Amino acid sequence: MSAAAQAIPLSARIQRIKPSPSMVARDRARQLQAQGRDIIDLTAGEPDFDTPKHIAAAVVAALEAGETRYTPVNGTPTLRKAIIAKLARENGVQYEINQIAVGSGAKQVIYNALAATIGSGDEVVIPAPYWVSYPDMVLACDGTPVVVPCGENAGFKLSAEALEQAITPRTRWVMLNSPCNPTGAFYSAGEMRALTDVLIRHPHVALMTDDIYEHIRFDDGPPVCPVVIEPGLAGRTLLVNGVSKTYAMTGFRIGYGAGPVALIAAMNTIQSQSTSCVSSTSQAAATAALNGDQSFVAEARAAYRARRDRAVALLNAIPGLSCRSPDGAFYVYPSCAGLIGKTTPEGKVLETDFDIVMHFLDAAGVAMVDGTAYGLSPYLRLSIATSLSNIEQACARLAKACAALR
Ligand code: PLP
Repeated sequence: MSAAAQAIPLSARIQRIKPSPSMVARDRARQLQAQGRDIIDLTAGEPDFDTPKHIAAAVVAALEAGETRYTPVNGTPTLRKAIIAKLARENGVQYEINQIAVGSGAKQVIYNALAATIGSGDEVVIPAPYWVSYPDMVLACDGTPVVVPCGENAGFKLSAEALEQAITPRTRWVMLNSPCNPTGAFYSAGEMRALTDVLIRHPHVALMTDDIYEHIRFDDGPPVCPVVIEPGLAGRTLLVNGVSKTYAMTGFRIGYGAGPVALIAAMNTIQSQSTSCVSSTSQAAATAALNGDQSFVAEARAAYRARRDRAVALLNAIPGLSCRSPDGAFYVYPSCAGLIGKTTPEGKVLETDFDIVMHFLDAAGVAMVDGTAYGLSPYLRLSIATSLSNIEQACARLAKACAALR
């Protein structure tokens, strides 16, 4: 029998989606590093800090207390109470225990919500630039992503007019991510109000807000929570958050959703038939993170702010690049329009942001992700979740590589 005849046929679902481009870029950088190449990796979507000690210690304590079994599907009551307290304390919103779902990262929470609510022909409005996983998750759940380009002139943000135009009778969700990966754009209370004013007129549309970078914000302003701004949306809003970015806990895989009881119950049904529940020890760690000392959060924010300021200044000094200062998250998203059409010393014409990313990897040993992956070109996404000295060295290498272009 030939190999082709033996192959297990793949589903239509898997043929619609692709591996996460940021993870592909990271693997590419790691492979080159493993081959001995000197690569500064600016692809990472995770904090470079260690998880605070009191959080790690909670794992040991949970193990010693015998917390090694399945937990309730939707999370331990202790963790859900910690999440409710956090949402009340920091965001000014009140939830009951059956309105909270705990999943393996915000990623699984978003996936569960889509799997529980959308099907063929259902549309999900996604402002671009977007986090790479949103459109593919919608496709995996048989829905149709409706991508709305939000250019740099609009601050990379969805306007009320653009939202209004994107809504059709088939729209099920609008997904907002603030601060945004990759642009760092943050919706002010006024901007959020303009969007909630549109949504209140379209009762068939639900709102999903991905607040995973909530605490990595550089203006020190109060949180902006759509259900506080417009309580009329509480029955059709899912707040998504987690501990990965705020507390440097990406490997723990804890995210959560807060929303209407029926939606949360449906998400839990999906989870009960897929992963059962999240790791018991990770839930203990997340409880410690939410209930414990918060000083790490401000320290990390100050470090990211210093890195952002340095990265933006250095990138803007490179002819061909121009970089807006992000409001939050730990990425910068410079335009590379000024490099398109240039020729490398080897004679290759740089036609896309992907060409530029590959050239910077080859010629400068700096790894990043192309804007195409995030739905808006020509841009580059560089993670600043790395040391100041890495940022400085990387920018020096990029400046040299750009100077060699014709
Ligand atoms: N949402 C956004 C915008 C992200 O950038 C990421 C991770 O990169 C996630 C969600 C997923 O976070 P978690 O680790 O909680 O799954």
